[in-house]
Amino acid sequence: MRAFGFRQHGGLDEARILEVPEPVPGPGEVRLRMRVASLNHLDLFTLHGIEGVPVQTPHVLCGDGMGEVESLGEGTRGPAPGERVLINPGLSDGTCPACRRGEEVLCRNYRIVGEHTQGVASELAVLPSTNLIPVPPGLDDVAAGTVALVFMTAWRALKTTGGLRGGERVAILGAGGALSTAAIQIAHLLGAHVTVVTRDPSRGEKARALGADDVFLLGGAVPLHKGLWELSGKQGMDLIFDSTGTDTVPSSVRALARGGRLVFCGATTGPMVQLDLRPLFWRNASVRGSTMGTREELREVLSLLSRGRLRAVVDSVVPLEEAPDALRRMDSGAQFGKLALRIG
Ligand SMILES: [Zn+2]
Repeated sequence: MRAFGFRQHGGLDEARILEVPEPVPGPGEVRLRMRVASLNHLDLFTLHGIEGVPVQTPHVLCGDGMGEVESLGEGTRGPAPGERVLINPGLSDGTCPACRRGEEVLCRNYRIVGEHTQGVASELAVLPSTNLIPVPPGLDDVAAGTVALVFMTAWRALKTTGGLRGGERVAILGAGGALSTAAIQIAHLLGAHVTVVTRDPSRGEKARALGADDVFLLGGAVPLHKGLWELSGKQGMDLIFDSTGTDTVPSSVRALARGGRLVFCGATTGPMVQLDLRPLFWRNASVRGSTMGTREELREVLSLLSRGRLRAVVDSVVPLEEAPDALRRMDSGAQFGKLALRIG
């Protein structure tokens, strides 16, 4: 069958359409005929190779997607053949103390589809039945195949980890990545005053359409911490969602309010930062990491998406064969929202 992935780690040239064997579902597993898969930044990291995360090659990319149930492994109880389902990309063992209390994301064996295991950018994909969710009403195939990872990650980062409440001031760094487009909508829905930080005025305008109240343009004469400080009425930001890392986190921290929280779920410009601790303790502020989300958090965002309170933001939909170009587009940062691959 055809799949999008790589035979060896490397740069963009290694990501290709491959011919790979059809996967066979075992006990507890379901085989899907995939209709839509979508890219995340994680796919670039997986392609380049992540320290401590060995993959089996050829490796199929993408953890996000949706399809139709084709067959069930022996003894599997799950959705019936023909049913449209979407994929929860978080894999947990279901048995450790964290899993038993519904905190699968803290599972001692937590893994992600397409990073630690074979992804779903392929004609057929095998997943545990517990990772499949019937597509809720109101979501077409493309929406169903693009929302899971970014919406559950942004929801957990802002609400669960960041404790965002209505009336608070939040700054979101980045305007075009799919995670930002989810975070802007969620922060707006929770009743926060949303400032978006971007280098690109046209993206700033698109962010306003998603619910941003203010836009701060990075790279101008005013440094980030000063810009955010002014926009917060000189009180500081209650929450800053900054997954940029080295380039911005030290400056972001300086713009936190008393009791402020900087939440991050990545470090796109680099993981090493030098932090001035004084504003943190003096303002009772904190820096908190967050990743992915629980089943319950995913259920919550899917319910909001189904009711039209949140919406999938899709940059483009291309056939599977054009996946290498879509990955290039994401690498260049030219997209606004998710890049979806239509399969079959
Ligand atoms: Zn567990």
